[in-house]
Amino acid sequence: MLAEACDVVVIGGGPAGAVAGALLAAGGVDVIIAEQKLFPRQKVCGEFLSPGAFPVLTRLGVLPEIIDRAGPEITALAMHPSVGLKISAAMPCDGAGRFARGIGRHHLDTILLDRARRLGARVLTPCHVRKVVGSGGEGFAVHTDQLGVIEAKLVIFANGLPPTNAEVTDRSKLMRQMVGFKTYFDDCQLPENVIALYGCRGIYGGLQRTGDAGAEHRYNFAFVARRSVMEAAAGAEGLLSRLRQSNHALDRALAGARRVDRWYAWGPLRPGMRRLFDDGKFYAGNAAGEVQPLIGEGMTLAIRSGALVADTITLGLRGGLTPAEMAARYETLWREDFSSRCYWGNWFANMLTNPVAGFFGSLLGQIRPLAQWGVGVSGKRFLAAAAAKSASRTVEGDNK
Ligand SMILES: Cc1cc2nc3c(=O)[nH]c(=O)nc-3n(C[C@H](O)[C@H](O)[C@H](O)COP(=O)(O)OP(=O)(O)OC[C@H]3O[C@@H](n4cnc5c(N)ncnc54)[C@H](O)[C@@H]3O)c2cc1C
Repeated sequence: MLAEACDVVVIGGGPAGAVAGALLAAGGVDVIIAEQKLFPRQKVCGEFLSPGAFPVLTRLGVLPEIIDRAGPEITALAMHPSVGLKISAAMPCDGAGRFARGIGRHHLDTILLDRARRLGARVLTPCHVRKVVGSGGEGFAVHTDQLGVIEAKLVIFANGLPPTNAEVTDRSKLMRQMVGFKTYFDDCQLPENVIALYGCRGIYGGLQRTGDAGAEHRYNFAFVARRSVMEAAAGAEGLLSRLRQSNHALDRALAGARRVDRWYAWGPLRPGMRRLFDDGKFYAGNAAGEVQPLIGEGMTLAIRSGALVADTITLGLRGGLTPAEMAARYETLWREDFSSRCYWGNWFANMLTNPVAGFFGSLLGQIRPLAQWGVGVSGKRFLAAAAAKSASRTVEGDNK
């Protein structure tokens, strides 16, 4: 049964898919977003939204609404390895003096998908894509469970998952197989402007204020654990006790705190870069590459790569480029923006989860310029330039 036809199908309505769909629609491309879940929905995430995402969110006209829903500005980082000294660093702001924020994914993702819809993307939800058949030359048939087959010239995978049989190019074997967890606490002993990272052997996590309507003192606590460690501990609570026992800074921050939601789990995580293009199929967000959750850049990568793929395809369709020519442009820009974050993310994760590396890393981290350099290479540089570039490119359209 043929249900729909369009230029581009985007699979997944998370940050990467919603942004790609919104900007394609704004550029006059006929686009369908197929999302399997009804929004709002929860997602395992530390919810730290770095200012690197702000230029695209400004362009889409949604930044004020997002800031309205978010927690207070996060201006400082505190890193606590299980052995060694605390590392402190200042968080950079963007060119407009705005800092990172914590925002619930049930808010952020809903705002972005609504924006895509208002800009003219056809959002099909719940709509699970079962398989994609075809090629860049002849076009694609996208088979869905609920709505039959959708025909499209191009497909963007923004489904948050590596392609089947993906080869992970990253060489770090140590952290490859991990599982992530998140929950919320009230009344933590942590200043509102700080994001704190805690590690012990095989586990690291982050605690910060996050935005949730009506919940003034809500903190997000998200952590990842290596599979081998998980097998020895009983569930999320067992892993949290282990991290608290090994890391006294976390134990102090959670003393007197109250867990106010259930645990959410997601995995396995496979940080590393993957395929960006394959014969008319583009990959964006986590489907294209996954950074260590620790550096708080996954949503930014999703949002920026969604914009990058949308701009590339819009230009390509207008200018009559072949899918392979579009792919070459996308790949060059993607690698410029994200390769170093993938590399350094693994490096910092190893430092937090390996006590020996943590000890020596924390000694080096006492040299303030080195700690600031670490914040920079994790992806939080060049924000002023990016903000200036985007300011003149706000998307026209219904801002209701
Ligand atoms: C523990 C943890 C902590 C993290 N902390 C942070 C943080 O603090 N800051 C940060 O920036 N990042 C963080 N991240 C990373 C961040 O969550 C991801 O990088 C981000 O969600 C990727 O966005 P995406 O749009 O690529 O994919 P997703 O957000 O996963 O969205 C994919 C969407 O596709 C849909 N989908 C999947 N398959 C199909 C299908 N077959 N058909 C239709 N729809 C489909 C899904 O329902 C989903 O809505 C963290 C991750 C973890 C695990």
